[in-house]
This record gives sequence, C-alpha cells and structure tokens, in this order.
Amino acid sequence: MFQNLSDRLSGVLKNITGQGKLTEDNIKDTLREVRMSLLEADVALPVVKDFIEQVKVKALGETVIKSVSPGQAFVKIVNDELISVMGGVAAEELSLNARPPAIVMVAGLQGAGKTTSVAKLALRLKEQQKKKVMVVSCDVYRPAAIDQLKTLASEVDVEFFPSSGEQNPIDIATAAVDAAKKGHFDVLIVDTAGRLHVDEAMMEEVKQLNRAIKPVETLFVVDSMTGQDAANTAKAFNDALPLTGVILTKTDGDARGGAALSIRTITGKPIKYMGVGEKIVALELFHPDRIASRILGMGDVLSLVEEAQQKLDEKKSEKLVKKLKKGKKFDLSDFKDQLDQMSKMGGITSLMGKMPGMGNIPDAVKDQVNDKHTARMVAMINSMTPKERQFPDIIKGSRKKRIAAGSGTQVQDVNKMLKQFSQMQKMMKKFSKGGMKNLMRGMAGKMPPGMMGF
Ligand code: GDP
Ligand code: MG
Repeated sequence: MFQNLSDRLSGVLKNITGQGKLTEDNIKDTLREVRMSLLEADVALPVVKDFIEQVKVKALGETVIKSVSPGQAFVKIVNDELISVMGGVAAEELSLNARPPAIVMVAGLQGAGKTTSVAKLALRLKEQQKKKVMVVSCDVYRPAAIDQLKTLASEVDVEFFPSSGEQNPIDIATAAVDAAKKGHFDVLIVDTAGRLHVDEAMMEEVKQLNRAIKPVETLFVVDSMTGQDAANTAKAFNDALPLTGVILTKTDGDARGGAALSIRTITGKPIKYMGVGEKIVALELFHPDRIASRILGMGDVLSLVEEAQQKLDEKKSEKLVKKLKKGKKFDLSDFKDQLDQMSKMGGITSLMGKMPGMGNIPDAVKDQVNDKHTARMVAMINSMTPKERQFPDIIKGSRKKRIAAGSGTQVQDVNKMLKQFSQMQKMMKKFSKGGMKNLMRGMAGKMPPGMMGF
C-alpha cells in the first residue's frame, strides 16, 4: 500500500546522494519534497510537521562518517524517523497477562474490519499460542453482523457465544465473560458495533461496555484506506476509550499509507497488527522497521550505512555470551574478536572512557590495551594455530618464537599479550558468574550493541 510514498521518497532521496555535507541549504529542498510526499500519502499534518522537524535536527547534528555519502546518511535518518513515528523497532503482540479469561475488545467504525479481525485474532491465538478462545458479538444493530461472526468462528473453529439483536450489549458481554470463566477459556474476544461516523451514542455505548468488562486489550480497528479521516477517528476513539493498541486493516489495498504513519503519533498507542487481505489468515504483526524499509525501498543503502556505523558482529557477540554462560572459557579467538570490534569502533581508548563499569577493569589491562598495540596483538593471534588459540596454556618456548617471527614481534611481546589475555579471561570469568547481569544493566543504552560481547 505504500507504493506511491515509496516511489516519491526514493526519488527524492536519490537526489541528495553524492553531495559533500549535510547543511541547512542542501537539505532544504529535499526536506520540502519529503514533506510533500508525506502529505500526499495522507499523513496527518501535525505528524508531518513534527517528522520534518526531527529529521532536520538530526540531519544537521549528524557527523557524517567517511565511508558513506551525506545522501546515504540522510536516507538513514529519514528511515529511523519513519520507524520512530510508527512506534520503534519492536513489534508488539497482545499482552494477555490477566486472570483468564483475558478479555480483548475491538472498537472502530462500521466496515473497518472489526469482525474479520476478531476471527483472525482468534485463529492466531489458537494456533500460535495454543489458547482456548471464545468470541462474542455485541453488534445488536445488524443481525447479519452476529451471523457473520458465527460463520467466521466456525471457520476458524473457536467457541462462539450466541447473542441476538434483542439483547443489550452489556448483558451480552457480561454473560459471555461468565461463560468463558465457567468454560475455562483463556481468551474472550468481544466484537462491537460500529457506525458510519463517530457519533456520541455509539461512543457512549462502547465506553460503557468497556467499563463493564474491563478488557486487558482494547484495540482500535481502523481501515488504512480512510486516509486523513483515520487520524480524526483515531483521536475520537482514543479520547473515549483506554486503548491499548491498534489493528490497521486493508493494508493490501492501494491506500496511500498515511494512516500507518499518523496513528501512532496521534494515539500514542502501538499498531500491533495489520490486516493484509480478506482471508482469515491474513493478519500480520506490525513491524515498524520492516514497514519503514518497505516505504523507502532502499534496503541496500540502509544496510550499508548501518554496517559502516557499527561494524559490529552481533552474532559473534551473542555466541560469546552463550559460550561464557555455559561455563566455557574465553579463549584467544574470542580475545581477537573483541580486539577487532574495538578497533572498528574507533579504538579502546575512546571506548573505555564511555563505558560505565570499566572501573572494574584492572589498571594493568587499561594501560596495556591501547590502540597501537591492538593491531599487533591481532597479528600475533593470527600467527597461532587454532589449537593454540583454544588452549593458550600450550604456548611455550618454541611456539612463542614461531608466533613472534610470524607476526614480526618479539617473544617478550608475545608474553605481554598472553598476560593481558589471561587478565581479560579472568575478567570474563567474573562477569559470567553473575557480575555480568549488573554490568549489562549498567551498559544498556549507553553502549553500542555487541560491544565486549554483551
Ligand atoms: P466491521 O464492520 O468493522 O466488523 O468490518 P468487517 O469485519 O465486516 O469487514 C468489512 C469488510 O472489509 C469485509 O468485506 C472484509 O472482508 C473486509 N476486510 C477486513 N479486513 C480486511 C483486510 O485486511 N484486507 C482486505 N482486503 N479486506 C478486509
Ligand atoms: Mg462487524
């Protein structure tokens, strides 16, 4: 659904690749174009304003690193801002932490896709989380709506709690809660009535219903095709109900995509799922980062910039943490990985100053691990056999000579390096025995991911 926005933005952003530096002047035109693209995609005006301001501030404050062009850096900034307006990197599932039955209520305008989404959710919870699910319809205005849910419930094979047009929505819902309790259901999903437009009577009804059953999740269902209107509707529902999340439907259509960018900012609530088709399986978790790269269509540029910015091998780091947790020893290969990462990050000296918890490191290590020596240490480790890296204790006289010769160093340098390594190894051992948690907590947020293996 983001095709137009994607086409426009990628066209615009290509124009500034290759220029010398990000300045107020050279990003001005591009910013204006980005602004137009967003407005054309039906993103709400206040959201657009904020977006442009954020991008501008970040672009001008950015020190563009050597290995990427300013244009590429700018693309990354726009991408990060897209992710941020859509709620950050992580996708959020329903949180069903409640005494069963966990009650989930949907609300939204008529035709938004509530009933369909109830069935889609029921199927997802049943299949992926092995939940025992019951559904109920409180849409007493359209008898066909209750039948629709009944049909869908049997299609996905979950329990349907019957209701009829003569009943009161609150009575239906409370009876369903009772039945779900008695039947030991994990989740009860409550479908509600919508109107064509936001009107007071409807809002009052869903409000009262919400108060009566106190759902753990109150989801606003919104049709992504409604464009600018989506923002206003979202605001009205958010004011009336304690929303916990949003389901964005019909993202498979040719909507301009603005709703996805507006709704999070306007409601402050995460978009948790998106409907991607009429079929009952067509519901996906909403991943802001994936949507952002779909919008920009510049996966290559983004990964290039990211790589250049961090050059950290997270997988390796994770492996090291796992290894240490298992009680295995930190060996010379691990030491080399750490040294490599440090030099890629701009060297140990600059890093150490920034790392909380570094006070614990013996001064001897701090003094010896300076940037000049790092490359030499790596060379020495490169001159070792795999067995020597894994079992440093076997490195004695003749092996030391060979390593020194291979790396253009002296035996005493090899000795020094081995001493540093064994200090590092001791430190790692300490961390892996409980100190690590604290260290990780201290470093969280302040350190680039993957550094030192944590
Ligand atoms: P409600 O009035 O809010 O309960 O809306 P419904 O669940 O009855 O859906 C209205 C129409 O939208 C139906 O024809 C659905 O099949 C369709 N619909 C719902 N979600 C999606 C979706 O993600 N993609 C597409 N293409 N159609 C959808
Ligand atoms: Mg319905």
